[in-house]
Amino acid sequence: MSINEAMVQDVVKEVMAKLQLASGASEGLGAFADMTDAIAAAKKAQGYIHRMSMDQREQIISVIRRKTKENAEILARMGVEETGMGNVPHKILKHQLVAEKTPGTEDITTTAWSGDKGLTLVEMGPFGVIGAITPCTNPSETIICNTIGMLAGGNTAVFNPHPAAIRTSLYAINMLNEASLEAGGPENIACAVRKPTLDSSNIMMKHPDIQLIAATGGPGVVTAVLSSGRRGIGAGAGNPPALVDETADIRKAAEDIVNGCTFDNNLPCIAEKEIVAVDCVVSELLHYMVSEQGCYLASKEEQDRLTSTVLTPKGLNRKCVGRDAKTLLGMIGVSVPDNIRCIIFEGEKEHPLIAEELMMPILGVVRAKDFDDAVEKAVWLEHGNRHSAHIHSKHIDNITRYAKAVDTAILVKNAPSYAALGFGGEGFCTFTIASRTGEGLTSASTFTKRRRCVMSESLCIR
Ligand code: NAD
Repeated sequence: MSINEAMVQDVVKEVMAKLQLASGASEGLGAFADMTDAIAAAKKAQGYIHRMSMDQREQIISVIRRKTKENAEILARMGVEETGMGNVPHKILKHQLVAEKTPGTEDITTTAWSGDKGLTLVEMGPFGVIGAITPCTNPSETIICNTIGMLAGGNTAVFNPHPAAIRTSLYAINMLNEASLEAGGPENIACAVRKPTLDSSNIMMKHPDIQLIAATGGPGVVTAVLSSGRRGIGAGAGNPPALVDETADIRKAAEDIVNGCTFDNNLPCIAEKEIVAVDCVVSELLHYMVSEQGCYLASKEEQDRLTSTVLTPKGLNRKCVGRDAKTLLGMIGVSVPDNIRCIIFEGEKEHPLIAEELMMPILGVVRAKDFDDAVEKAVWLEHGNRHSAHIHSKHIDNITRYAKAVDTAILVKNAPSYAALGFGGEGFCTFTIASRTGEGLTSASTFTKRRRCVMSESLCIR
C-alpha cells in the first residue's frame, strides 16, 4: 500500500467514526433526527436562495464542484466501504464527472416573444423545497448531482437517502452545506434525516412544503412516489440490452460492451445488462470478449450455481450486487486470475441471469436469427422500462429501426453505455434518468416551474 493510499484510508476511517458519532448527536451540517425539522430547515434556506442572484447561486455551485473533486477519493472509498458495492477507481471518475459536467445556472433559460402586442417571457422558477429519494448504487453521486441542479433552479433539497448508504450520503450533504457557507450562502441547502425509513419517506411525500419529489431507484420507490398525489419525477429501473448486428466492428463492440458493463461493477442503471447479437457474429464476439477483454465463459453448470447464488426466492441477493466478477465466481467455488472482469455465457432471453436486472458483471449473450429477431428480443428484455438501450452497428436504417422500437430515454451507438453520461460522449451528466415519467436525463431546468410574464402593448422596441 502506498503512503498516499494509507493516508486516505485513515481519513476515511476518521470521517466514518465522526459520522457514526453524528448519527446519535447533532454534528454534520444538514443532518436531522426528524424529517419535519429537515424540511423546515431546507425551507428557511430556500428563502435565502430565492433572494440570491443567479451569479451568487453559481458561486455556490462552483465551490461544490471544487469540493466534489477534492473529496472524490474519500467519497468513493466511503461508498465502497459502506455499501460493499462498486469499485473505488470508477467511483472517483463518477464524482469527477458530476463535478465537471452537471449543468448549473446556464441551464436556466428564458423564452421570449416580442411584437406589436408587447413582450412575453417564459421563465423557469423554483418549486421551493424538493424531496429527493436516492439509491445505494450511486449514493453521493446522485445527491451532489441532484443538489447542483435543484440549487441552480433556486430550490433547496431534502433527501431520504438509502439506509445502506447513509453515512456516505450524510458526508456528501455536509460537504454541500460547507460549500454554501464558504461561498456566502445559507446552511441547509441540502438536508436529510440521519435514520431514513419508509416512515420518514412518507412524511416527506405528504408534507405540504414539498411541491416536487424526485425519486431515483427501483420500481417500488417510483410507484410509491407516483401514488403520493404529489408531482413526481420517476427515475426507475432499467435492463439495457446491447444489440450487435453484422455491420458492427465486432472487436470494438466487444471492447465497448465489456468496458460499459464492468464500469463500477455494473451498478449504473444505464450499463449493459445483456447482449443480443445476430447469429453470424456471435462466435467472433465471444472470441474477442474472452481472448482480449478479460471475460470468463461460464459453463452450464456454473451458470446454474450462479443463478441460485445471485437470485434468491425473495429476489436479488444483495450480497452479490455490485461485486466484481472474481468475487462472484469465488462465491460458486471458481478461482480465476485478477484480470477476469466479466462473466459471460450464451443463453435464451428467458434465462434468469439475462432477463433480470442484476447490477453485477454477468453478461448473457442471446443469439438472434436476424436483425428483426434481435430487435424483438432486445425490446422484450428492456421490459418496457423505456430506460436505456445500446447498439453496435454501422447501418443507419438498422439503428433508426431499433431506436423507434425500443423507445428508450438513452440509446448509445457504437460506444460504452457511459458515453450517455457525458463520459467519452458529448452532453451533460446526470445520475437521475427519468425514464418512467419522461423527463429523460434530468438537469437544473427539470427542477423548475414555467412562468409566463406578459407586458401588453409595451417594451417591444423593434
Ligand atoms: P431501491 O429501489 O432499493 O432504493 C432506492 C431508494 O428508494 C432508496 O432510498 C430506498 O430506501 C427507497 N425506497 C425503496 N422502496 C421504497 C418505497 N416503497 N417507498 C419509499 N422509498 C422506497 O434501489 P437501489 O438498490 O438503491 O438502486 C438500484 C435501482 O435503482 C435499480 O433498479 C436501478 O436501475 C435504479 N436506478 C435508476 C436510476 C435512474 O436514473 N433511472 C439511477 C440509479 C438507480
